[in-house]
Amino acid sequence: MTKTLDVQVNAQSIAAFKKGYPLILKDVVVQPDVLKEDGTIIRLVDKYGKFIAKGYYGNQNKGVGWVLTRKDEEPIDFAFFESRMKSAFARRDLLMEDPETTAFRLFNGEGDGIGGLTIDYFDGYYVVSWYSEGIYSMKHHVYGVLDKLVEYKAIYEKKRFDGKGQYVEQDDFVKGTPGDFPIIVKENGMNFAVDLNDGAMTGIFLDQRDVRKAIRDNYAEGKNVLNTFSYTGAFSVAASLGGAVKTTSVDLAKRSLPKTIEQFSVNGIDYEQQDIKVMDVFDYFRYAKRHELKFDLVVLDPPSFARSKKHTFSTAKDYPALLQDAIAITAKKGIIVASTNNASFGMKKFKSFIEKAFSESGSTYKILEESSLPKDFRTNRDFPEFNYLKVVILQKLK
Ligand code: SAH
Repeated sequence: MTKTLDVQVNAQSIAAFKKGYPLILKDVVVQPDVLKEDGTIIRLVDKYGKFIAKGYYGNQNKGVGWVLTRKDEEPIDFAFFESRMKSAFARRDLLMEDPETTAFRLFNGEGDGIGGLTIDYFDGYYVVSWYSEGIYSMKHHVYGVLDKLVEYKAIYEKKRFDGKGQYVEQDDFVKGTPGDFPIIVKENGMNFAVDLNDGAMTGIFLDQRDVRKAIRDNYAEGKNVLNTFSYTGAFSVAASLGGAVKTTSVDLAKRSLPKTIEQFSVNGIDYEQQDIKVMDVFDYFRYAKRHELKFDLVVLDPPSFARSKKHTFSTAKDYPALLQDAIAITAKKGIIVASTNNASFGMKKFKSFIEKAFSESGSTYKILEESSLPKDFRTNRDFPEFNYLKVVILQKLK
């Protein structure tokens, strides 16, 4: 039996919970020290003991747990997980049937009703990510529901609860028949090699699907493309398939070179016709300026935080400066794809960064397109803070 604990929350938080706000922040809990055992089912109550919502205690990088239901009588058991997972899977029916896309998000945490849990689908393989010890203590339900509802090749898991949401080093295999990685998945007809048993990252960030498609279909033809913070070069592949004349991919991780070669190769693109640079983006910008290189399309998708030998970088602070560097080497009428996954600020602030970068560069621009998470990364419209991805595609005018 799971223990249930009454937890009083402060008066200011009640209206939001009633509207459906799912995250339980530490500072709304009146006596946080009653929270002891991760995974405890908690009933949020007001100062009179009146029921507000029910959820679980799980320490995450943000918050101490998530609301799961606003019905006091609904138990948090196998049937609960089954109902939420079944609805989530049904919402992705069309994607599941699309032969051109075989990798996507199947369950998106609080957006699908269970914060702290995501499930990604890779052509018959399931990757379950756990964001707290609390939700992980309920894993038997989630794996039980997968056993019941789907036919999988294998299940892999990522534990991301070292306190900061960072991946915990482990063997990711859970059950099924282990895959022979890399496997090739499809996304809007493009191929991507993924390895689900190789640490935190799989080889592709599924949340950028719409942006890869936009680059391929609308912005790449005939262009000389620079892809910064390129990781495995997925944006470069999209650009190349969209008719780019040449791509240059820049990432300082050594593994990015073989991984990028691999992504080009599984798409039948001759990687020797492309540039793949293992170096610090900031050094590359200096190099490009010195050699007066100009690009028609620049992709800028840095991690929220990064530390290299020379730099500590945080998008919340340094994005305008980074964008200024990009503007300096973008051709007149060129396109910049400015992206960030930093959840600590919203679209408005992000646009103010863009404004600042252009005004300090003495340059002007026009926004062509804005985008955020794709549909399968379901979020609640009332609470945009959970839709962390912000992408602005813009054109440099002068
Ligand atoms: N845009 C990529 C994902 C980027 S992940 C995509 O959509 O696939 C962030 C990448 O930034 C990592 O691969 C990391 O190695 C790289 N990185 C971090 N700091 C860097 C720096 N200073 N210079 C170059 N690459 C950096």
